[in-house]
Amino acid sequence: MTTETSPSGASPSVTSTGVSVATRDVHLAFGSNQVLRGVDLEVSAATTACVIGPSGSGKSTLLRVVNRLLEPDRGDVLLDGRSVLADNPDLLRQRVGMVFQHFNLFPHKTVRANITLGLTRLKGLGKDEAAERALHHLDRVGLAHKADVRPATLSGGQQQRVAIARALAMEPEVMLFDEATSALDPELVKGVLATMADLAAEGMTMVVVTHEMGFARSVAQQVLFMDHGRVVESGAPEQLFEAPRTERLQRFLSQVL
Ligand code: ADP
Ligand code: MG
Repeated sequence: MTTETSPSGASPSVTSTGVSVATRDVHLAFGSNQVLRGVDLEVSAATTACVIGPSGSGKSTLLRVVNRLLEPDRGDVLLDGRSVLADNPDLLRQRVGMVFQHFNLFPHKTVRANITLGLTRLKGLGKDEAAERALHHLDRVGLAHKADVRPATLSGGQQQRVAIARALAMEPEVMLFDEATSALDPELVKGVLATMADLAAEGMTMVVVTHEMGFARSVAQQVLFMDHGRVVESGAPEQLFEAPRTERLQRFLSQVL
């Protein structure tokens, strides 16, 4: 357990440390489209891995396999060293939180109610306990003062931080982010990345698909470059960014940096 200050600087919050997550030789096809062609991922507990790569390379599909929104045709997914493919997908999804590009908050519910919904329905928490936990996680992302408003009154960046708080409230052991800042106006990106960096510093295990190379450099312990359904290169950020070995990664970096 580690203690950190929330982005608001208001009050300390306590997080449990994440567990390791891995995939072994994961294959997946949509019809004749072979999208994942043997993906091995190994993310140690309490570390962050960033996945980069061109559009269509299979990054989102890989994350969906990890939190069981998709079943691989072949291969394995492990949490804390144990295969989870035989587990109930609904329970597994509580262990692996995911944040998407589009946050999908319920527009007619308050920010707090968006978070308590999963806690009462899936976690079986009572109303008061759920409300208290929602507030705690909103505080972690610096938005406790927005608990009673509707999402539409928030900026896109704030809405995404609510989506992060919603995922955290389920007390996941691993967090997956799929281009969480790609739909945001540029001035809103920083706040969301700061929240993600805080979470990494608190010891959450994270797999982050992103185009934010600055975040990958400063926060990740490991970067994986995917192309055509394979991890083409992986290693420490300095190594990948300063000394890419393959022509494919060199070309990709020259386009995005
Ligand atoms: P990335 O996130 O790297 O852009 P995706 O994992 O979204 O890549 O997509 C990889 C490939 O899988 C693409 O060719 C895409 O068209 C295809 N694909 C993704 N999801 C589906 C789906 N649900 N049904 C059919 N094809 C899909
Ligand atoms: Mg994608």
